[in-house]
Amino acid sequence: MKKWYQLDVEQVEQKLQVTVSRGLTSKQVSERQSQYGYNMLETNKQTPRWIIFLKQFQDFMVLVLLAATLIAGMLGEFVDAIAIMVIVLVNGCIGYFQEQKAEKSLEKLKELSAPMANVFRDKKWEKVASKELVIGDIVRLNTGDRVPADIRIVKSVSLETEESALTGESLPVMKHAAAISRSDLDAQDQVNMGFKGTMVSRGSGIGIVVGTGMNTVMGQIASLMSSTKKIPTPLERKLAELGKILIVVAILLTILVVVLGVIQGHPIYNMFLAGVSLAVAAIPEGLPAIVTVALSLGVQRMIRKRAIVRKLSAVETLGCASVICSDKTGTMTENEMTVKEIYLNGETITVTGDGFDVEGDFLIGNKKIKQDHPNLENMLLYGQLCNNSELQIKKGKYIVNGDPTDGALLVAARKIGLSPLSGQNVEIVKEIPFDSDRKRMSVIIEDDNGRRFLITKGAPDVLLPRCNYVVDQEGRKLLKKHDKELIEQAIDQMADKALRTIAISMRPLSKDVSLDSAFLEKDLTFIGLYGMIDPPRKEVKAAIAECREAGIKTVMITGDHVKTARAIAKDLNLLPDNGLVLEGSELNKMSVEELENIIEDVYVFARVTPEHKLKIVKAFQARGHIVAMTGDGVNDAPAIKASDIGISMGISGTDVTKEASSLVLMDDNFATIKSAIQEGRNIYENIRKFIRYLLASNVGEILVMLFAVLLGMPLPLVPVQILWVNLVTDGLPAMALGLDKPEADVMKHGPRSPKEGVFARGLGFKIITRGILIGIVTLIAFMVTYQNNPENLVYGQTVAFTTLVMAQLIHVFDCRSEKSVFERNPFENIYLVFAVISSILLLLVVIYWEPLQPIFHTISLGLRDWMLILGLAAIPTVLFGFTKR
Ligand code: ADP
Ligand code: MG
Repeated sequence: MKKWYQLDVEQVEQKLQVTVSRGLTSKQVSERQSQYGYNMLETNKQTPRWIIFLKQFQDFMVLVLLAATLIAGMLGEFVDAIAIMVIVLVNGCIGYFQEQKAEKSLEKLKELSAPMANVFRDKKWEKVASKELVIGDIVRLNTGDRVPADIRIVKSVSLETEESALTGESLPVMKHAAAISRSDLDAQDQVNMGFKGTMVSRGSGIGIVVGTGMNTVMGQIASLMSSTKKIPTPLERKLAELGKILIVVAILLTILVVVLGVIQGHPIYNMFLAGVSLAVAAIPEGLPAIVTVALSLGVQRMIRKRAIVRKLSAVETLGCASVICSDKTGTMTENEMTVKEIYLNGETITVTGDGFDVEGDFLIGNKKIKQDHPNLENMLLYGQLCNNSELQIKKGKYIVNGDPTDGALLVAARKIGLSPLSGQNVEIVKEIPFDSDRKRMSVIIEDDNGRRFLITKGAPDVLLPRCNYVVDQEGRKLLKKHDKELIEQAIDQMADKALRTIAISMRPLSKDVSLDSAFLEKDLTFIGLYGMIDPPRKEVKAAIAECREAGIKTVMITGDHVKTARAIAKDLNLLPDNGLVLEGSELNKMSVEELENIIEDVYVFARVTPEHKLKIVKAFQARGHIVAMTGDGVNDAPAIKASDIGISMGISGTDVTKEASSLVLMDDNFATIKSAIQEGRNIYENIRKFIRYLLASNVGEILVMLFAVLLGMPLPLVPVQILWVNLVTDGLPAMALGLDKPEADVMKHGPRSPKEGVFARGLGFKIITRGILIGIVTLIAFMVTYQNNPENLVYGQTVAFTTLVMAQLIHVFDCRSEKSVFERNPFENIYLVFAVISSILLLLVVIYWEPLQPIFHTISLGLRDWMLILGLAAIPTVLFGFTKR
């Protein structure tokens, strides 16, 4: 049987019952989908739910507790044993639930950032998720795409793919459409095939899908690929380490409590169960898990703000960002380009109209030009031919499919009365696509008479040195120094008005000229200049100001002319009076060290290529900055990877940059970066809040027991009570803190240092002081009650238990502010209010509901008890509310 690469395109079409001119019908698609399944590589099996559930109990101390409980049960303490079991079980369920939630939101993330493919079905191009592709689908490939399936190439415009993922060969392979007759070719020699998972490094093309999912070359080796493991974020790692220390501390303290207790004459067995319960309660084993939950909840909030986090660790790093290097075009600006001015034969022509709307006129002074200006019409026609985009009408509005810069040229052509059919008598023989390195694009056309022309358009300063002639009324003339100066003046004038400039030129080619790209774009005839406006996005100016206030510097990076960049930067209030604008050519001459020395003063990088971005990232990082860098094209990927927070564009970005990035902007908008940073800071602050809450609670729990045995008193809390406190207060209120709103000043202070430890900025002090006070007031409540009723230990224990719980539930509001509890409206966080109320209700049930009293060792309390309890419980929080420390 012949292989795909040996067949002609027609044979492939026949075999797959599809034509390139029509695509599959939706019926064929659904049939094939049910027959062959999704175009996905099968990933590793998921862990079964029951294992995740069991894993909640694998913690060492929990196992010890369970064993101790078992012993208690065997010794006849059934009630205690069962109560402890139930509490441990509920605790496990909460852990399970949290883990599931985190898992689900990560799944959702994966779906959101899943790759898409351009597919031609029922004679229409559409975008579908790559996994929906079936055999026979016609797909289009663009630079930067991941090839979505195995395909037979049917059209190649300088298409090159990089197949190292498959073959290990990192040099790009040129692709073409012709069949190959040899029969024993390896993947790397099948140059008319594209393989799933490889990358389009240049050009574009069209192909027919011949293999999907596991039936691709990549699918065959998929089983060899390493599985993706969840990597813990820096904070999760820090907390895991801290957790280990805390376990040791908690166990040591517990042993101290047990030993002291035994010396004081408490029965060993009692002390043992109390000790183990205490250890279980005091060890913040759930901390890393709650952090993961908080991170993933934050990720969901970011999605609502149109930012998709691809790596959980980015959430943390975002809060540390100190520099944002952002593309100008499309990220800070609307990317709705409109040609406003044309320079031709020494004349400046004004173009009216807005956006991509095709209504508009051409004016010289006040005089309207219609079709009485042959050179203008020619220039616009050339702009339409040397073009890679398409005008479409959607909901009565013109939109551009493709590069907006090209789209603007189409719109201008429409304004003079050219139609999409104009120039149909010429054939495009070859295209050299635009890229940001070359800053130009060319096509070779052939007309009816077999004459060939090259049309090149691109950045004027790139094109002008390649021009030897300039068009004039009679035809063309030599480009003299004087003409050059006039043109350069025109460029400057346009750029000063914040217009993006593009020059267009042509060259007649004799038949025998080689079409080798290297020799084509020279000896050109300059035709004219386009000046197009790309208005800044409305919200960007405010976002830049907000970032500045938050100690984050915004840097603009663009391939545009220096003057254009400067004008827009001024507009956006991004460039201070003493700020520097650096040009790509200047960057070339500088070493990274030289750049480092001045980079703090640079706000705009103009006429740069993607390679420069890497240098910029390195220089900022060398100055100790945490750098966020945006990018869309393939060549941006290295800089994005090297930056601390790589940001890619959801709409205009390529698959490759998206894969390299840790954050995707669904709307390509700079302002979204600001929102994401704000959210990143907020999430980190919330994590600090519940670390503080949990640890202070634990300190209080341990200390009350320690103080009691030190003073030779009976135990103020029984094991079930300790476990109950741990369950209720560690559960809902802690999670609600994770959902807290930011303090008013999150974006009013500088970024935090990524090296900052868990207890930085006074958190350790807060935990210890609050913890000690919570322990003391609980002990006082116990002592007062017990001394008045020495015969009724349960009474004293109930009061101690209630005081501890209330002190924690009041303290939770303190945790919301780094300054003082009085700074914030306690009812602002509705989840927290709900969590506290439900915790109080649970407390009341345990105290007042008779069937539970013997289980929790409680009795009903009176009004006077409550006054004592609330008065004492409020002290830790209120006291520190005044000291603001
Ligand atoms: P940016 O950072 O603004 O996206 P680019 O690298 O895309 O910069 O563009 C740099 C310059 O290349 C532009 O100022 C323009 O002169 C020229 N240019 C941009 N797009 C095209 C295109 N599609 N065809 C030809 N030239 C272009
Ligand atoms: Mg661009």
